[in-house]
Amino acid sequence: MTDAILPLHKAESTNRSGQAAKGTEAAAEQTAVRLIYVAGYGRSGTTLLDIALGEHPAIMGAGEVTTLARHVWDKGEYCACGERVRDCPEWKAIVMRWMQDEPAEFLARYRRTQERTEGLVAPGRLLRLPGWRDHGRRTLKLLRGMAMVSGRPVLVDSSKLPGRAFALAAMPGIDLHVVHVVRDGRGVAWSLMKGHRRSVEKGVQRELRPKPLLYTALRWTMVNVAAEWLCRRVGPKRSIRVRYEDFVDDPRGTIGRIVALVGEAPHPPVADLAPFAPQHQVAGSRHRMQKSLIIRGDDKWKREMPGWKQKLFTLLCAPLLRRYGYPLRQGDTA
Ligand SMILES: [Zn+2]
Repeated sequence: MTDAILPLHKAESTNRSGQAAKGTEAAAEQTAVRLIYVAGYGRSGTTLLDIALGEHPAIMGAGEVTTLARHVWDKGEYCACGERVRDCPEWKAIVMRWMQDEPAEFLARYRRTQERTEGLVAPGRLLRLPGWRDHGRRTLKLLRGMAMVSGRPVLVDSSKLPGRAFALAAMPGIDLHVVHVVRDGRGVAWSLMKGHRRSVEKGVQRELRPKPLLYTALRWTMVNVAAEWLCRRVGPKRSIRVRYEDFVDDPRGTIGRIVALVGEAPHPPVADLAPFAPQHQVAGSRHRMQKSLIIRGDDKWKREMPGWKQKLFTLLCAPLLRRYGYPLRQGDTA
């Protein structure tokens, strides 16, 4: 039975006795799970960063883990490997292990507790309401399972929401590191003005309606301020801010800074813009469903977004844009 909880590739090739495997598992239970949480607003390259980090042999890029119990598992959504998450060998093994010894309706109960604990202002977390300790234990069980099954000791959760990271930071057994990803809000707003039709196979779980500029300006500000607050909560040795524009300019350099944060050596560079193959990311941007990805910046908004819209966004968000080093007028350098 222990084979089910061994890293898959090892389970296939090893003849180690069950006892030795149990020893490995017991040792893993003693150490905290290393987790890189990618926080930030949508359309900022968080999924791309997740995939690029997962290229490292010690790192599992897991996608937006918050969605697993919320809807991915029950609704039969797709993993980046092309299988439905329920049929993906990696996630199937993880979730089966996770559900072992848990009561019926486990996922539904877990989801309800998530809803009470992952908001920015979440009573379940802030007041430590009944169920909080069990929720922490079950979350840790899921993360340990991900590390065991993937055979990768460092996990990436690119759920983005700062509130979920506040919850993870308060749970014992998790060695949390935060990457706050920022993209020029005008590029985010322009990207969100274009909607996407629902296409589950292509990784778009629901119809994405175009978002008005004022809505994005407000949400972009709130989420980034909350992500900064989160970075202060975990401290400067465990957090880093990454600008989307710098990441697409120098992916290897950015990845190197992040892996150093969790104490791993950089993965030897292949080539600066080598194609990346998505692995087993659950949810996240639709780009994860491509077979191979090339990291290329998208600054079409600078040419396509009407000037008055750019100026309006700049007016609304000038302090934060300036804080992140974005020029307030086109033509100025950062
Ligand atoms: Zn998969």
